[in-house]
Amino acid sequence: MRKAVCPGSFDPVTNGHLDIIGRAAAQFDEVTVAVLINKRKASLFTVDERIEMLQEATAQHGNVVVDAFHGLLVDFCQERQITAIVKGLRAISDFDYELQMAQMNNRLTGVETFFVSTNPLYSYLSSSLVKEVATYGGDVRGLLPDKVYKQMKIKLDQA
Ligand code: ADP
Repeated sequence: MRKAVCPGSFDPVTNGHLDIIGRAAAQFDEVTVAVLINKRKASLFTVDERIEMLQEATAQHGNVVVDAFHGLLVDFCQERQITAIVKGLRAISDFDYELQMAQMNNRLTGVETFFVSTNPLYSYLSSSLVKEVATYGGDVRGLLPDKVYKQMKIKLDQA
């Protein structure tokens, strides 16, 4: 069974993430979406909230599971016999960092990283930009699942 992981913060999940996850699910037998637990980085949603939103948003794929991880991604992969990391590449700005990580991860355990080119519809999309625009009242509907959009509005209004 060929297993891949799509790692990220997903704070919150956007249609850009879902595009990459769906395309990974079409290529691998099982895809684990792994939510990074980073206690040093302030987040809008808790890890449990992010997992729940991802589970709902990926429910149409029978071969996608959602989990959380901290520490080294390569350790997470080894524990689950995952041999591939799938990452979306938006722009050249993603490339430097992603290439470095891919090479380091390969050096550590031999895990392979596969880059999927962003869907041009979402190439400018990141969770942080969506949150920033929404904070100031910009209309970001259509860039993330409706339910996630509503949950984000509630959180931002509370803040
Ligand atoms: P961000 O906070 O920038 O949205 P994450 O850390 O949650 O990103 O991203 C996880 C993965 O999803 C990364 O591989 C990232 O490149 C990819 N990704 C995020 N947004 C997009 C997008 N719009 N198109 C393609 N890949 C994306």
